[in-house]
Amino acid sequence: MSQTVKDYIRTIADFPHEGIMFRDVTTLFADARGFRMAIDQMLHPYAGERIDKVVGLEARGFILGGAIAHQLSTGFVPIRKKGKLPGPVISEAYALEYGEAVMEVHDDALKPGERVLIVDDLLATGGTAEAGIKLCRRMGAEVIGCAFVIDLPDLGGNAKLQALGMPVHVLCSFE
Ligand code: 5GP
Repeated sequence: MSQTVKDYIRTIADFPHEGIMFRDVTTLFADARGFRMAIDQMLHPYAGERIDKVVGLEARGFILGGAIAHQLSTGFVPIRKKGKLPGPVISEAYALEYGEAVMEVHDDALKPGERVLIVDDLLATGGTAEAGIKLCRRMGAEVIGCAFVIDLPDLGGNAKLQALGMPVHVLCSFE
């Protein structure tokens, strides 16, 4: 029987903390057929749509976003954790289970009116993606959608992004 994207994802129990089931996409990325299938499926809903830039969320969003940008012949923009980008940045803080995190982007990375697709490996609470959407919008860009390999629907991120009016595309879910 042919394999699906989900079949290539490995689950590691108790990483990075006890009780967490970590969904490991390195096994998907390492497989030639699995990686190509994931990129093709992430792009599928956007066929025929104008996309000016692909925006990837650190760190696995860079691997997916680079491949997607190459396929679309667009540029790629990284959104990184605080303190990693060398030039002038804008920042967005968001809540974690304990404390907060900050995502940053170069303040000239997108132009007003550019249509962008945000990509990452996994959607959990949606905090990271929401910060990414806000950063893109602050530069005047239009986020046409967010694409992920994995959705964890129990954590509510998908519903949160849809409530913001953001089209969300996921390849598979883990309950
Ligand atoms: P959120 O902000 O939606 O709560 O968390 C999503 C972010 O956390 C993504 O950038 C994602 O890479 C990372 N993440 C959280 N849990 C997992 C997991 O089980 N597997 C992987 N690959 N990434 C995770």
